[in-house]
Amino acid sequence: MNSETSVDHIIVGQGLAGSCLALQLIKEKKRVLVVDQFDKHSATQVAAGLFNPITGRVMSKTWKADILFPYLHDFYREAEVLTGSKFFHPMPLYRPFLSIEEQNEWMGKSAQQDFKDYIASVDTHEAHAGLVKNPFGGLTLRQAGWLDTVTFTETVRHYILNHGFFLNDAFHEDSLILKDDVVNYLNYSARKIIFCQGVKTLSGKLFSWIPIRPLKGETLTIQTDAKIDTLYNRGVFVVPDTGKVGATYQPNDQQPTVTEAARNELQSKLDELVCFPYRIITQSWGIRPTTPDRRPILGPHPEHPNAIIFNGLGTKGVSLAPYFSKVLATWIENRGAINKEVDIERYKHYNYGGNIPR
Ligand SMILES: Cc1cc2nc3c(=O)[nH]c(=O)nc-3n(C[C@H](O)[C@H](O)[C@H](O)COP(=O)(O)OP(=O)(O)OC[C@H]3O[C@@H](n4cnc5c(N)ncnc54)[C@H](O)[C@@H]3O)c2cc1C
Repeated sequence: MNSETSVDHIIVGQGLAGSCLALQLIKEKKRVLVVDQFDKHSATQVAAGLFNPITGRVMSKTWKADILFPYLHDFYREAEVLTGSKFFHPMPLYRPFLSIEEQNEWMGKSAQQDFKDYIASVDTHEAHAGLVKNPFGGLTLRQAGWLDTVTFTETVRHYILNHGFFLNDAFHEDSLILKDDVVNYLNYSARKIIFCQGVKTLSGKLFSWIPIRPLKGETLTIQTDAKIDTLYNRGVFVVPDTGKVGATYQPNDQQPTVTEAARNELQSKLDELVCFPYRIITQSWGIRPTTPDRRPILGPHPEHPNAIIFNGLGTKGVSLAPYFSKVLATWIENRGAINKEVDIERYKHYNYGGNIPR
């Protein structure tokens, strides 16, 4: 008796990358098997889930914002309708100014075409009374918000169970057989296998050579009676509803634990930002899969074209995963190309089989 189950594609890992890709493929009526071993410290489970079109120390428009942001709004809204669940929370993001000079700078920028779609208002006087310290006013951004990544992945997991196959288990590369036109894993056969493993790709075999740079981050969860309906962000962010505060960037620390240094850093930045009383409930840590050029990595293995990677979502998985999962799903079905900026090709020549810079 032949007990082999045939699917179109196997996905390894169900964080933001694997979840978005599974949804894209199922929407295209593909049969998928997803293999994921839940890890409460995976980047997706720890993430605050913020999406913010204007970021960084110099506050510039984030890479490809004009494409990624309209796409992510449509994608998560559609995913909510598809699954009958609530996890997408678009809301304004308020960033207090630190000086009159900064206020003037944003008055100017708000008139520029490039920023007009993202700036809701520029306050020149104190706003959000009793909640944040903002004597010089602040900037309110639109198209921002947060994704409840825990509910999103839980919901997608159920959706996969109802519309495909799901193995709640560790994926063992030793049980994988890659042939020219077929992939076999346990009793499943597929056309392609896509690895969406975050930093755990570094402990595998096929894609351990790609330059994923682990970047640890920690968050606090606070409890407060203050009524917050806006994301606050300056030094740290505060997410309404979940009370998440974060996040740190600890490139030289890979200890699998929370640290006192991170707690102190977050608490002192929070005290500079907010004026409401709060209590710290928990502290969490996770590791982001970043890349040297801060762009995702998509595409086939140099020697095994039916083994594919989707990784490198770095610090912005919530805004990158929807659009680039679509790019990858379209490419997998031979209906589109992978943008050069994110193609695995760019690392193949100097990394694959050679000295791997980490
Ligand atoms: C503290 C912190 C705060 C963050 N805040 C934000 C934020 O506000 N906004 C934002 O956009 N991004 C944020 N990020 C970044 C975001 O979390 C990542 O970009 C994103 O979650 C990466 O998703 P991923 O699916 O690539 O990897 P992961 O989340 O690591 O998921 C990989 C999954 O694959 C599974 N897996 C791997 N190998 C195997 C195997 N062999 N067998 C079975 N399962 C396997 C893992 O267990 C995991 O479930 C934050 C990250 C951290 C750490």
